[in-house]
Amino acid sequence: MAYQMKPDPSQIRQRIRRLEDSLGSLVAQLLAERGPLRRGSFVTLQRKCGKATCHCAHGPGHPAPYLSTRCEGRTRLFYLTPEVRDQVAEEAGRYRTFRQRRALLAQRMRAILASVDELAEALENPAPLVGKRGQARRRGRSARSD
Ligand SMILES: [Zn+2]
Repeated sequence: MAYQMKPDPSQIRQRIRRLEDSLGSLVAQLLAERGPLRRGSFVTLQRKCGKATCHCAHGPGHPAPYLSTRCEGRTRLFYLTPEVRDQVAEEAGRYRTFRQRRALLAQRMRAILASVDELAEALENPAPLVGKRGQARRRGRSARSD
């Protein structure tokens, strides 16, 4: 094919509407989140209990849950006691979901912008402007200082 077919503007509009819908539901989900959120991720580490007679003294430790989180630029681990374990797991899970939705939101917004640019291109008048040669004036430097 010698010419590249321009995309159909109505298809681009439909695509933008679909993206807008999914953007809307993502925003609604983000706004519905009431927290509390907890930054960090859940990790399980082997922990030595310290008893000399325990198998862990000479072998693998006991699996124990920690929250790995960045504080003032460094990663810190917090041991999670049984009392706080479930709550922290829930909060960290909500935080993760929130961040995933935020990433999806950024992706959809970029897709909308790209589609809007595509729409402008599809709507552009392909006919060249006709005029006398040499009439087109080069844009000079403006006096504006910006
Ligand atoms: Zn032990």
